[in-house]
Amino acid sequence: MQEVIKGILFFHGEDEYIPDSHLYIIGKPKSKDLSIIDPGLVGKGKRKLERIKEANIELNDIKRIILTHTHLDHIGCTREFMEVIPNLKLWVHESEAEFLETGDERIVYGSEMFAGMIGYQYNLKRGDFKFSVDKKLKKGDILEIGGFSFEVIHVPGHSMGSIALFDKENKVLISGDTVYADYGIGRVDLFSADPAEMKKSLYKLGELNSEILLPGHNRILLSGAKKAINETTKQWIPYL
Ligand SMILES: [Zn+2]
Ligand SMILES: [Zn+2]
Repeated sequence: MQEVIKGILFFHGEDEYIPDSHLYIIGKPKSKDLSIIDPGLVGKGKRKLERIKEANIELNDIKRIILTHTHLDHIGCTREFMEVIPNLKLWVHESEAEFLETGDERIVYGSEMFAGMIGYQYNLKRGDFKFSVDKKLKKGDILEIGGFSFEVIHVPGHSMGSIALFDKENKVLISGDTVYADYGIGRVDLFSADPAEMKKSLYKLGELNSEILLPGHNRILLSGAKKAINETTKQWIPYL
């Protein structure tokens, strides 16, 4: 665990042969109103909950899970968290919420090939990722959570309901799988991905006055986020 700033904790993903997303906890310690951003891959719940407890987080203070998008490596252990933490709410962008509520898992798996392969590997059944969503996020929503104020930025491209969360005051950008801090971007070949939308989303993120970049995978960046995003965008535009 790494404390990014007071009230934002970073738990590195536990990649195996399938990547596992990073997990962030947002909320000032005294607020007792904590949010988990992206629990991670299926099967990782037990270990991640242990790591959270080791960081002296009171599980009852965790009120909700917010997903940057619903790919398996981000949503995967949501149910494992819900079984342990009572009354955990689920917040997802409205366009992917619809898929979760109807049990349409095409975004979760991204492709039929993955659904078959990973489903077999983890003994998953169709319907395992049917959830009711407590709050359907829209672009421009301001989330007042745990003493922070995060704006929801809708960034389709990697998936149709991908979001980034931006804390203007502390210049913190949580970017999901849209843009990484190592000059990479999310893949644009899975179900509901769209390279043209990705292009627009990268430009949108590059306009924000961000300093700290907290992506879904790989390294994080503690300064110079805006510049790094714009350099990354410049590199990738010819391929989108
Ligand atoms: Zn991911
Ligand atoms: Zn993804």
